[in-house]
Amino acid sequence: MANDKTPVSADPASWSPETQLVHGGVMRSQFGETSEALFLTQGFVYNSAEQAEARFKNEDPGFQYSRFSNPTVSMFEERLRLLEGAEVCRAAATGMAAVTASLLCFLKAGDHIVAARAMFGSCRYIVETLCPRFGISMTLIDGRDIENWQAALRPNTRGFFFETPANPTLDVVDIAAVSALGREHGIITVVDNVFATPMQQRPLAYGADVVVYSATKHIDGQGRCLGGAVLCSEKFLTDHLQDFIRQTGPSLSPFNAWVMLKSLETLPIRVRAQTETAARVADGLAGMTGISRVIYCGRADHPQADIIKKQMTGGGQMIAFEVEGGKEAAFKLQNALKIIKISNNLGDSKSIITHPPTTTHYRIGPEARAELGITDGMLRLSIGLENADDLAADLEAAVKAARTS
Ligand SMILES: *Cc1c(COP(=O)(O)O)cnc(C)c1O
Repeated sequence: MANDKTPVSADPASWSPETQLVHGGVMRSQFGETSEALFLTQGFVYNSAEQAEARFKNEDPGFQYSRFSNPTVSMFEERLRLLEGAEVCRAAATGMAAVTASLLCFLKAGDHIVAARAMFGSCRYIVETLCPRFGISMTLIDGRDIENWQAALRPNTRGFFFETPANPTLDVVDIAAVSALGREHGIITVVDNVFATPMQQRPLAYGADVVVYSATKHIDGQGRCLGGAVLCSEKFLTDHLQDFIRQTGPSLSPFNAWVMLKSLETLPIRVRAQTETAARVADGLAGMTGISRVIYCGRADHPQADIIKKQMTGGGQMIAFEVEGGKEAAFKLQNALKIIKISNNLGDSKSIITHPPTTTHYRIGPEARAELGITDGMLRLSIGLENADDLAADLEAAVKAARTS
């Protein structure tokens, strides 16, 4: 609602997030369509040979080829950019394409990267396996303690990378502290902000240089398309990212961009509803016999509640919990669920449960799991848009079923 004191500005940067996500970035065609158009085209026709020349010399600002840019993809990028408050946004085909581009675009042989070891398996592969193959050394640390970041520094450290909250243990990294340390030493800090979503955490405002998303998660939010995004400064784009994306081609399909563009319109409503339900479900789980531990960023008993309070504006919709009885009980619990689905995605409108030790974190092995605190009884729950009472009842019955027989 517009208030009396501030006249509504035509500048989208001055709008509230909800308004930016409905109207931000719109580029209407000559038909004046209400809903954003899907430009499913690889290329663009030039009016003359002179115009083609001017486009390729960057003297004419129009589109050239959808690997570089496309009107639907540009609308998606601009909408997300406004929300994040970043100087620029570049879309990518998947979250992993975004993570890979954000790191490999600026790291080179001889450089060193420090990363928090609690992270998504594929992100861990990029840092632990892929980077060293190209002469980029790495150190994995427990990112919860700022002293570990300091201790891992080397003269050639060029990048910091972390996920916060991390998958699946919901460990948190102090964005401001790590980014400040990075800045002091000329290090670029890249934050994977998937779990918090741009609605509940703004890493750039806390000093991070680059933010990456898997748009596959909350941004689509309805389990349909893969997508990703990198948000950064103009300088990072020109110095590093622009050419990397343009020439290596991890580009987002215009169709997927259109789905995500429309999904952004409902992101605030979905994240708010899922967070409210998650808070209720987490409290319910904490009171159940047979559940030994509940980790939720919105609960006061989260081990890093002080940092969460500082940098997050909501508890999110991810819950990790431990069932007594290890793998056997965790399997029984999952198999007894009627509404919550067994799958490995997250941020979906459908509630989803995963057993990390046998799925997403199977490959890292028992030692790495123990180091991360991923026990055999741990389950990861992504809360969807279903009725909170239905979800609570589904879980209660499943926890009971895991304890009997
Ligand atoms: C899913 C996920 C990714 C990878 O995203 P894709 O779209 O599946 O490639 C990266 N980081 C985190 C934290 C994720 O949850």
